[in-house]
Amino acid sequence: MSKLAILGGTPVRTKEFPNRVSMGSEEKSAALRVLDSDILSGFVGAAGKFFNGGKEVVEFENLWAQTYGFKNAISVNSLTTGLQTAVGAVGIEPGDEVICSPYSMSASATSVLFYGGIPIFADLDQNRFTLDPASIERRITPRTKAILVVHLFGYPADMDAIMKIAAKHGLSVIEDAAQAPGIYYKGRSVGTIGDIGGFSLNFHKHIHTGEGGLLVTNNDEIALRCRLIRNHGENATEAYGVEEISNMIGSNYRFTELQAAIGIEQFKKLKGILAHRTKLGHYLDRRLKSIPGLTIQQIESGSTHSYYMYPVRFDEEIVGISRNLFLRAVALELPKPKFWDTTPFAEGYVKPLYLNPLYQKKIAIGKKGFPFNFNPGVTYDYPKGLCPVTEKLYEKELLLSPLVREGMDIDDIKDFADAIEKVVGGIRELKDSLAGLASGMLYDAVRAIDENVS
Ligand SMILES: *Cc1c(COP(=O)(O)O)cnc(C)c1O
Repeated sequence: MSKLAILGGTPVRTKEFPNRVSMGSEEKSAALRVLDSDILSGFVGAAGKFFNGGKEVVEFENLWAQTYGFKNAISVNSLTTGLQTAVGAVGIEPGDEVICSPYSMSASATSVLFYGGIPIFADLDQNRFTLDPASIERRITPRTKAILVVHLFGYPADMDAIMKIAAKHGLSVIEDAAQAPGIYYKGRSVGTIGDIGGFSLNFHKHIHTGEGGLLVTNNDEIALRCRLIRNHGENATEAYGVEEISNMIGSNYRFTELQAAIGIEQFKKLKGILAHRTKLGHYLDRRLKSIPGLTIQQIESGSTHSYYMYPVRFDEEIVGISRNLFLRAVALELPKPKFWDTTPFAEGYVKPLYLNPLYQKKIAIGKKGFPFNFNPGVTYDYPKGLCPVTEKLYEKELLLSPLVREGMDIDDIKDFADAIEKVVGGIRELKDSLAGLASGMLYDAVRAIDENVS
Protein backbone atom coordinates (compact mmCIF):
# COMPACT_ATOMS: atom_id res chain seq x y z
CA MET A 1 0.00 0.00 0.00
CA SER A 2 1.56 3.26 -1.04
CA LYS A 3 1.82 6.15 1.38
CA LEU A 4 -1.25 8.39 1.71
CA ALA A 5 -1.02 11.83 0.11
CA ILE A 6 -2.09 13.34 3.44
CA LEU A 7 1.13 11.88 4.89
CA GLY A 8 3.26 13.17 2.04
CA GLY A 9 2.79 10.27 -0.40
CA THR A 10 1.99 10.48 -4.10
CA PRO A 11 -1.70 11.21 -4.86
CA VAL A 12 -3.77 8.71 -6.83
CA ARG A 13 -4.43 11.34 -9.49
CA THR A 14 -3.26 14.86 -10.25
CA LYS A 15 -4.74 15.25 -13.74
CA GLU A 16 -7.82 17.45 -13.60
CA PHE A 17 -11.22 15.83 -13.90
CA PRO A 18 -13.07 16.61 -17.13
CA ASN A 19 -15.65 19.37 -16.83
CA ARG A 20 -19.36 19.13 -17.50
CA VAL A 21 -20.31 20.68 -20.84
CA SER A 22 -24.08 20.98 -20.92
CA MET A 23 -24.81 23.09 -24.01
CA GLY A 24 -24.23 21.73 -27.50
CA SER A 25 -24.90 22.77 -31.07
CA GLU A 26 -28.54 21.63 -30.70
CA GLU A 27 -29.22 24.17 -27.92
CA LYS A 28 -27.38 26.87 -29.86
CA SER A 29 -29.47 26.46 -32.98
CA ALA A 30 -32.67 26.24 -30.90
CA ALA A 31 -31.81 29.53 -29.22
CA LEU A 32 -31.05 31.13 -32.57
CA ARG A 33 -34.36 29.90 -33.97
CA VAL A 34 -36.17 31.80 -31.21
CA LEU A 35 -34.04 34.91 -31.63
CA ASP A 36 -34.76 34.88 -35.37
CA SER A 37 -38.49 34.64 -34.65
CA ASP A 38 -38.17 37.76 -32.48
CA ILE A 39 -40.75 36.29 -30.06
CA LEU A 40 -38.92 35.79 -26.79
CA SER A 41 -42.08 35.21 -24.78
CA GLY A 42 -45.46 34.03 -26.01
CA PHE A 43 -47.43 34.83 -22.84
CA VAL A 44 -50.18 37.39 -22.38
CA GLY A 45 -51.50 37.96 -18.84
CA ALA A 46 -55.17 37.69 -19.74
CA ALA A 47 -57.47 34.81 -20.68
CA GLY A 48 -57.21 33.78 -24.30
CA LYS A 49 -55.00 32.16 -26.86
CA PHE A 50 -51.74 33.26 -25.27
CA PHE A 51 -52.61 32.67 -21.63
CA ASN A 52 -50.65 29.42 -21.56
CA GLY A 53 -47.60 30.66 -23.41
CA GLY A 54 -46.10 30.47 -26.85
CA LYS A 55 -45.22 27.71 -29.29
CA GLU A 56 -41.94 26.61 -27.68
CA VAL A 57 -43.37 26.61 -24.16
CA VAL A 58 -46.32 24.46 -25.19
CA GLU A 59 -44.07 22.06 -27.11
CA PHE A 60 -41.67 21.76 -24.18
CA GLU A 61 -44.50 20.97 -21.78
CA ASN A 62 -46.05 18.42 -24.17
CA LEU A 63 -42.75 16.63 -24.61
CA TRP A 64 -42.44 15.89 -20.89
CA ALA A 65 -46.10 15.04 -20.56
CA GLN A 66 -46.07 12.55 -23.44
CA THR A 67 -42.75 10.94 -22.56
CA TYR A 68 -43.58 10.23 -18.93
CA GLY A 69 -47.35 9.96 -19.14
CA PHE A 70 -48.14 13.12 -17.16
CA LYS A 71 -51.61 14.44 -17.92
CA ASN A 72 -50.50 18.07 -17.42
CA ALA A 73 -47.11 19.76 -17.48
CA ILE A 74 -46.78 23.44 -16.52
CA SER A 75 -43.47 25.23 -16.97
CA VAL A 76 -42.44 27.88 -14.43
CA ASN A 77 -39.45 30.18 -14.05
CA SER A 78 -37.91 28.11 -11.21
CA LEU A 79 -38.93 25.23 -9.02
CA THR A 80 -38.85 27.61 -6.05
CA THR A 81 -41.78 29.49 -7.58
CA GLY A 82 -43.10 26.14 -8.83
CA LEU A 83 -43.38 24.78 -5.30
CA GLN A 84 -45.12 27.98 -4.19
CA THR A 85 -47.53 27.50 -7.09
CA ALA A 86 -48.18 23.89 -6.08
CA VAL A 87 -48.81 24.86 -2.45
CA GLY A 88 -51.27 27.53 -3.60
CA ALA A 89 -52.95 25.22 -6.09
CA VAL A 90 -53.68 22.48 -3.55
CA GLY A 91 -55.36 25.13 -1.40
CA ILE A 92 -53.05 25.73 1.56
CA GLU A 93 -54.37 28.55 3.76
CA PRO A 94 -52.94 30.55 6.67
CA GLY A 95 -52.53 28.28 9.67
CA ASP A 96 -52.56 25.03 7.69
CA GLU A 97 -49.75 22.68 8.64
CA VAL A 98 -47.70 21.03 5.92
CA ILE A 99 -45.30 18.21 6.74
CA CYS A 100 -41.92 18.91 5.17
CA SER A 101 -38.46 17.41 4.93
CA PRO A 102 -35.88 19.14 7.13
CA TYR A 103 -33.06 18.11 4.83
CA SER A 104 -33.45 19.75 1.45
CA MET A 105 -33.02 22.91 -0.50
CA SER A 106 -34.71 25.62 1.61
CA ALA A 107 -37.58 26.19 -0.83
CA SER A 108 -38.93 22.70 -0.08
CA ALA A 109 -40.26 24.25 3.14
CA THR A 110 -40.41 28.03 2.56
CA SER A 111 -42.89 27.49 -0.30
CA VAL A 112 -45.46 26.66 2.39
CA LEU A 113 -44.91 29.99 4.17
CA PHE A 114 -45.84 32.04 1.12
CA TYR A 115 -49.51 31.07 1.59
CA GLY A 116 -49.35 31.37 5.38
CA GLY A 117 -48.93 27.64 5.88
CA ILE A 118 -46.68 26.32 8.63
CA PRO A 119 -43.88 23.88 7.82
CA ILE A 120 -43.82 20.95 10.26
CA PHE A 121 -40.63 18.95 9.95
CA ALA A 122 -40.72 15.16 10.15
CA ASP A 123 -37.56 13.08 10.42
CA LEU A 124 -35.88 11.08 7.68
CA ASP A 125 -35.40 7.43 6.92
CA GLN A 126 -31.65 6.97 7.35
CA ASN A 127 -31.29 4.80 4.23
CA ARG A 128 -33.44 6.73 1.77
CA PHE A 129 -32.71 10.24 3.13
CA THR A 130 -36.39 10.98 2.52
CA LEU A 131 -39.34 11.41 4.89
CA ASP A 132 -39.83 8.52 7.30
CA PRO A 133 -43.53 7.52 7.15
CA ALA A 134 -43.59 6.69 10.88
CA SER A 135 -42.30 10.17 11.72
CA ILE A 136 -44.88 11.76 9.38
CA GLU A 137 -47.67 9.98 11.27
CA ARG A 138 -46.37 11.32 14.57
CA ARG A 139 -46.53 14.92 13.28
CA ILE A 140 -50.11 14.82 12.04
CA THR A 141 -52.64 17.06 13.83
CA PRO A 142 -56.19 18.18 12.95
CA ARG A 143 -54.53 21.16 11.19
CA THR A 144 -52.35 19.06 8.83
CA LYS A 145 -53.34 19.61 5.18
CA ALA A 146 -50.48 18.29 3.06
CA ILE A 147 -47.19 16.44 2.88
CA LEU A 148 -44.39 17.92 0.79
CA VAL A 149 -41.96 15.09 0.04
CA VAL A 150 -38.52 15.47 -1.50
CA HIS A 151 -36.88 12.77 -3.62
CA LEU A 152 -33.50 13.71 -2.21
CA PHE A 153 -30.34 13.17 -4.26
CA GLY A 154 -32.56 11.62 -6.92
CA TYR A 155 -33.87 8.57 -5.08
CA PRO A 156 -37.64 8.42 -4.56
CA ALA A 157 -39.26 8.70 -1.15
CA ASP A 158 -41.27 5.73 0.11
CA MET A 159 -44.39 6.82 -1.77
CA ASP A 160 -46.57 3.75 -1.09
CA ALA A 161 -46.41 4.33 2.65
CA ILE A 162 -46.72 8.12 2.27
CA MET A 163 -49.77 7.91 -0.03
CA LYS A 164 -51.40 5.52 2.42
CA ILE A 165 -50.99 8.03 5.26
CA ALA A 166 -52.25 10.82 3.00
CA ALA A 167 -55.37 8.84 2.07
CA LYS A 168 -56.06 7.95 5.68
CA HIS A 169 -55.92 11.58 6.83
CA GLY A 170 -57.22 13.29 3.66
CA LEU A 171 -53.95 15.12 2.90
CA SER A 172 -52.61 16.47 -0.39
CA VAL A 173 -49.18 15.26 -1.46
CA ILE A 174 -46.68 17.48 -3.28
CA GLU A 175 -43.54 15.86 -4.69
CA ASP A 176 -40.38 17.95 -4.88
CA ALA A 177 -38.63 15.99 -7.62
CA ALA A 178 -36.12 18.76 -8.36
CA GLN A 179 -33.28 16.26 -8.18
CA ALA A 180 -35.16 13.35 -9.72
CA PRO A 181 -36.24 14.10 -13.33
CA GLY A 182 -37.20 10.97 -15.24
CA ILE A 183 -37.00 8.80 -12.12
CA TYR A 184 -39.28 5.89 -11.28
CA TYR A 185 -40.66 4.67 -7.98
CA LYS A 186 -41.61 1.00 -8.28
CA GLY A 187 -42.25 1.47 -11.99
CA ARG A 188 -44.18 4.76 -11.72
CA SER A 189 -42.85 8.17 -12.81
CA VAL A 190 -42.18 10.39 -9.82
CA GLY A 191 -44.02 13.71 -9.89
CA THR A 192 -47.56 12.40 -10.39
CA ILE A 193 -47.72 9.74 -7.70
CA GLY A 194 -48.90 12.48 -5.36
CA ASP A 195 -51.32 15.23 -6.38
CA ILE A 196 -48.65 17.38 -7.99
CA GLY A 197 -44.88 17.34 -8.40
CA GLY A 198 -42.12 19.40 -9.88
CA PHE A 199 -38.68 19.33 -11.46
CA SER A 200 -36.02 22.04 -11.39
CA LEU A 201 -34.18 23.27 -14.45
CA ASN A 202 -31.57 25.38 -12.69
CA PHE A 203 -27.96 25.30 -13.85
CA HIS A 204 -26.92 22.56 -11.41
CA LYS A 205 -29.65 20.10 -12.23
CA HIS A 206 -29.34 17.16 -14.68
CA ILE A 207 -30.78 19.19 -17.51
CA HIS A 208 -31.20 22.93 -17.32
CA THR A 209 -32.29 26.17 -18.93
CA GLY A 210 -30.18 28.38 -16.68
CA GLU A 211 -33.18 28.81 -14.40
CA GLY A 212 -36.56 27.16 -14.73
CA GLY A 213 -38.90 24.49 -13.47
CA LEU A 214 -41.75 22.23 -14.48
CA LEU A 215 -44.84 21.17 -12.54
CA VAL A 216 -46.67 17.97 -13.41
CA THR A 217 -50.08 16.72 -12.31
CA ASN A 218 -52.75 14.30 -13.43
CA ASN A 219 -55.41 16.47 -11.77
CA ASP A 220 -56.89 18.93 -14.30
CA GLU A 221 -58.31 21.25 -11.66
CA ILE A 222 -54.95 21.59 -9.91
CA ALA A 223 -53.32 22.12 -13.31
CA LEU A 224 -55.68 24.99 -14.14
CA ARG A 225 -55.03 26.59 -10.75
CA CYS A 226 -51.28 26.33 -11.41
CA ARG A 227 -51.69 28.04 -14.78
CA LEU A 228 -53.67 30.82 -13.10
CA ILE A 229 -51.06 31.32 -10.38
CA ARG A 230 -48.30 31.30 -13.00
CA ASN A 231 -49.88 34.05 -15.04
CA HIS A 232 -51.95 36.72 -13.26
CA GLY A 233 -54.86 34.49 -12.34
CA GLU A 234 -56.73 37.43 -10.81
CA ASN A 235 -57.54 38.54 -14.37
CA ALA A 236 -58.66 35.17 -15.64
CA THR A 237 -60.70 33.20 -13.06
CA GLU A 238 -64.03 34.35 -14.50
CA ALA A 239 -63.10 33.53 -18.08
CA TYR A 240 -61.99 30.04 -17.06
CA GLY A 241 -65.06 29.47 -14.87
CA VAL A 242 -63.05 29.02 -11.70
CA GLU A 243 -65.31 29.40 -8.69
CA GLU A 244 -62.89 28.48 -5.94
CA ILE A 245 -60.75 31.59 -6.37
CA SER A 246 -58.72 31.47 -3.14
CA ASN A 247 -54.96 31.71 -3.74
CA MET A 248 -55.68 32.96 -7.25
CA ILE A 249 -53.82 36.22 -6.85
CA GLY A 250 -51.59 35.23 -9.72
CA SER A 251 -48.02 36.13 -10.25
CA ASN A 252 -45.65 36.08 -13.17
CA TYR A 253 -43.73 32.81 -13.05
CA ARG A 254 -43.65 32.43 -16.83
CA PHE A 255 -41.08 30.50 -18.79
CA THR A 256 -39.66 32.23 -21.87
CA GLU A 257 -39.61 30.90 -25.43
CA LEU A 258 -35.82 31.00 -25.31
CA GLN A 259 -35.71 28.82 -22.19
CA ALA A 260 -38.28 26.43 -23.65
CA ALA A 261 -36.42 26.02 -26.94
CA ILE A 262 -33.20 25.21 -25.08
CA GLY A 263 -35.19 23.01 -22.70
CA ILE A 264 -36.58 20.94 -25.59
CA GLU A 265 -33.04 20.03 -26.66
CA GLN A 266 -31.96 19.43 -23.08
CA PHE A 267 -34.92 17.16 -22.51
CA LYS A 268 -33.89 14.99 -25.47
CA LYS A 269 -30.63 14.31 -23.62
CA LEU A 270 -32.18 13.40 -20.27
CA LYS A 271 -32.43 9.65 -20.77
CA GLY A 272 -28.81 9.45 -21.92
CA ILE A 273 -27.68 11.52 -18.93
CA LEU A 274 -29.56 9.27 -16.51
CA ALA A 275 -28.15 6.13 -18.15
CA HIS A 276 -24.62 7.51 -17.86
CA ARG A 277 -25.02 8.46 -14.21
CA THR A 278 -26.53 5.06 -13.48
CA LYS A 279 -23.50 3.35 -15.05
CA LEU A 280 -21.12 5.40 -12.88
CA GLY A 281 -23.27 5.00 -9.77
CA HIS A 282 -23.47 1.23 -10.13
CA TYR A 283 -19.72 1.05 -10.68
CA LEU A 284 -19.15 2.95 -7.43
CA ASP A 285 -21.66 0.71 -5.65
CA ARG A 286 -19.65 -2.35 -6.67
CA ARG A 287 -16.38 -0.79 -5.54
CA LEU A 288 -17.64 0.57 -2.21
CA LYS A 289 -20.19 -1.96 -1.05
CA SER A 290 -17.82 -4.17 0.91
CA ILE A 291 -15.78 -1.41 2.57
CA PRO A 292 -16.43 -1.61 6.33
CA GLY A 293 -17.86 1.62 7.72
CA LEU A 294 -19.22 2.89 4.40
CA THR A 295 -22.88 2.16 3.60
CA ILE A 296 -24.08 2.66 0.05
CA GLN A 297 -27.72 3.30 -0.79
CA GLN A 298 -29.88 0.25 -1.51
CA ILE A 299 -32.02 0.51 -4.64
CA GLU A 300 -35.36 -1.33 -4.48
CA SER A 301 -36.73 -3.23 -7.45
CA GLY A 302 -38.56 -1.00 -9.97
CA SER A 303 -37.09 2.24 -8.58
CA THR A 304 -34.30 4.25 -10.18
CA HIS A 305 -31.76 6.79 -8.91
CA SER A 306 -30.70 9.97 -10.71
CA TYR A 307 -27.46 10.35 -8.70
CA TYR A 308 -27.87 14.09 -8.40
CA MET A 309 -25.37 13.37 -5.63
CA TYR A 310 -23.85 10.01 -4.79
CA PRO A 311 -24.55 9.49 -1.06
CA VAL A 312 -22.60 7.28 1.34
CA ARG A 313 -23.23 6.82 5.05
CA PHE A 314 -20.04 6.96 7.09
CA ASP A 315 -19.51 5.19 10.41
CA GLU A 316 -16.69 6.86 12.31
CA GLU A 317 -16.42 4.02 14.86
CA ILE A 318 -15.86 1.39 12.20
CA VAL A 319 -13.66 3.42 9.84
CA GLY A 320 -11.57 4.61 12.76
CA ILE A 321 -11.16 8.33 11.94
CA SER A 322 -13.52 11.30 11.82
CA ARG A 323 -15.60 11.97 8.73
CA ASN A 324 -13.81 15.26 8.25
CA LEU A 325 -10.34 13.75 8.34
CA PHE A 326 -11.49 10.97 6.01
CA LEU A 327 -12.81 13.36 3.39
CA ARG A 328 -9.66 15.48 3.61
CA ALA A 329 -7.49 12.41 3.14
CA VAL A 330 -9.53 11.41 0.07
CA ALA A 331 -9.46 15.00 -1.25
CA LEU A 332 -5.68 15.08 -1.14
CA GLU A 333 -5.50 11.99 -3.35
CA LEU A 334 -7.48 13.70 -6.14
CA PRO A 335 -7.96 16.93 -8.07
CA LYS A 336 -10.97 19.13 -7.26
CA PRO A 337 -14.27 17.90 -8.73
CA LYS A 338 -14.77 20.94 -11.03
CA PHE A 339 -18.31 22.09 -11.82
CA TRP A 340 -19.21 21.73 -8.12
CA ASP A 341 -16.97 23.85 -5.91
CA THR A 342 -16.30 21.25 -3.26
CA THR A 343 -14.12 18.22 -2.53
CA PRO A 344 -14.68 14.78 -4.15
CA PHE A 345 -16.56 13.87 -0.98
CA ALA A 346 -18.44 16.65 0.80
CA GLU A 347 -19.88 16.22 4.29
CA GLY A 348 -23.32 16.77 5.69
CA TYR A 349 -25.32 18.37 2.81
CA VAL A 350 -27.28 21.31 4.37
CA LYS A 351 -27.92 22.28 7.97
CA PRO A 352 -31.33 20.89 9.01
CA LEU A 353 -33.65 23.63 7.80
CA TYR A 354 -35.37 24.26 11.13
CA LEU A 355 -32.04 25.30 12.70
CA ASN A 356 -31.95 28.42 10.51
CA PRO A 357 -32.99 31.79 12.06
CA LEU A 358 -36.25 31.86 10.07
CA TYR A 359 -37.57 28.97 12.20
CA GLN A 360 -35.58 29.65 15.35
CA LYS A 361 -36.88 33.24 15.57
CA LYS A 362 -40.21 32.34 13.91
CA ILE A 363 -40.13 35.43 11.74
CA ALA A 364 -41.24 34.85 8.15
CA ILE A 365 -43.77 37.32 6.79
CA GLY A 366 -43.65 40.72 8.47
CA LYS A 367 -42.15 41.12 11.94
CA LYS A 368 -45.07 39.99 14.08
CA GLY A 369 -44.55 36.24 13.84
CA PHE A 370 -46.97 35.39 11.03
CA PRO A 371 -47.78 32.61 10.22
CA PHE A 372 -46.28 30.84 13.23
CA ASN A 373 -48.64 32.73 15.59
CA PHE A 374 -51.74 32.24 13.47
CA ASN A 375 -53.41 29.34 15.31
CA PRO A 376 -54.70 30.51 18.73
CA GLY A 377 -53.31 28.40 21.55
CA VAL A 378 -50.87 26.51 19.34
CA THR A 379 -47.13 27.13 19.69
CA TYR A 380 -44.67 26.04 17.05
CA ASP A 381 -41.15 25.21 18.16
CA TYR A 382 -38.17 23.97 16.23
CA PRO A 383 -35.69 22.86 18.90
CA LYS A 384 -32.39 21.15 18.24
CA GLY A 385 -33.07 17.42 18.51
CA LEU A 386 -36.40 17.75 16.64
CA CYS A 387 -35.22 15.33 13.93
CA PRO A 388 -32.42 13.20 15.39
CA VAL A 389 -31.79 11.04 12.30
CA THR A 390 -31.40 14.16 10.16
CA GLU A 391 -29.10 15.85 12.66
CA LYS A 392 -26.91 12.74 12.83
CA LEU A 393 -26.66 12.61 9.05
CA TYR A 394 -25.69 16.26 9.02
CA GLU A 395 -23.22 16.14 11.88
CA LYS A 396 -21.63 12.73 11.52
CA GLU A 397 -22.77 10.36 8.84
CA LEU A 398 -23.45 11.70 5.41
CA LEU A 399 -20.83 11.93 2.68
CA LEU A 400 -21.84 13.11 -0.78
CA SER A 401 -19.94 12.93 -4.00
CA PRO A 402 -20.66 15.26 -6.93
CA LEU A 403 -18.45 13.16 -9.23
CA VAL A 404 -21.24 11.00 -10.66
CA ARG A 405 -22.03 13.30 -13.56
CA GLU A 406 -21.69 13.99 -17.27
CA GLY A 407 -18.14 14.52 -18.44
CA MET A 408 -16.82 11.91 -16.01
CA ASP A 409 -16.18 8.42 -17.30
CA ILE A 410 -15.48 5.06 -15.69
CA ASP A 411 -11.72 5.73 -15.77
CA ASP A 412 -12.22 8.95 -13.83
CA ILE A 413 -14.60 7.45 -11.31
CA LYS A 414 -12.19 4.53 -10.91
CA ASP A 415 -9.59 6.97 -9.56
CA PHE A 416 -12.14 8.15 -7.00
CA ALA A 417 -12.81 4.57 -5.88
CA ASP A 418 -9.06 3.87 -5.80
CA ALA A 419 -8.52 6.93 -3.61
CA ILE A 420 -11.19 5.79 -1.16
CA GLU A 421 -9.70 2.29 -1.00
CA LYS A 422 -6.24 3.71 -0.55
CA VAL A 423 -7.32 5.90 2.37
CA VAL A 424 -9.24 3.05 4.01
CA GLY A 425 -6.14 0.85 3.65
CA GLY A 426 -3.94 3.55 5.18
CA ILE A 427 -6.04 4.40 8.25
CA ARG A 428 -3.74 2.61 10.71
CA GLU A 429 -0.71 4.41 9.35
CA LEU A 430 -2.61 7.71 9.41
CA LYS A 431 -3.68 7.24 13.02
CA ASP A 432 -0.16 6.22 14.06
CA SER A 433 1.34 9.29 12.38
CA LEU A 434 -1.18 11.65 13.93
CA ALA A 435 -0.60 10.12 17.36
CA GLY A 436 3.15 10.49 16.91
CA LEU A 437 3.05 14.13 15.90
CA ALA A 438 3.81 16.79 18.44
CA SER A 439 0.87 19.16 18.75
CA GLY A 440 2.63 21.98 16.85
CA MET A 441 3.41 19.66 13.97
CA LEU A 442 -0.15 18.40 13.96
CA TYR A 443 -1.34 21.98 13.63
CA ASP A 444 0.96 22.48 10.62
CA ALA A 445 -0.24 19.25 9.05
CA VAL A 446 -3.91 20.20 9.41
CA ARG A 447 -3.24 23.67 8.07
CA ALA A 448 -1.48 22.18 5.07
CA ILE A 449 -4.55 20.06 4.43
CA ASP A 450 -6.81 23.11 4.69
CA GLU A 451 -4.70 24.98 2.16
CA ASN A 452 -4.79 22.06 -0.21
CA VAL A 453 -8.47 21.43 0.18
CA SER A 454 -9.74 24.96 -0.11
C1 LIG B 1 -32.89 22.86 -6.87
C2 LIG B 1 -33.92 22.48 -5.90
C3 LIG B 1 -35.07 23.24 -5.66
C4 LIG B 1 -35.31 24.60 -6.23
O1 LIG B 1 -35.23 24.66 -7.59
P1 LIG B 1 -34.90 26.05 -8.34
O2 LIG B 1 -35.29 25.75 -9.74
O3 LIG B 1 -33.45 26.31 -8.16
O4 LIG B 1 -35.73 27.12 -7.75
C5 LIG B 1 -36.04 22.76 -4.79
N1 LIG B 1 -35.87 21.59 -4.17
C6 LIG B 1 -34.78 20.84 -4.32
C7 LIG B 1 -34.67 19.55 -3.61
C8 LIG B 1 -33.75 21.27 -5.18
O5 LIG B 1 -32.65 20.53 -5.32
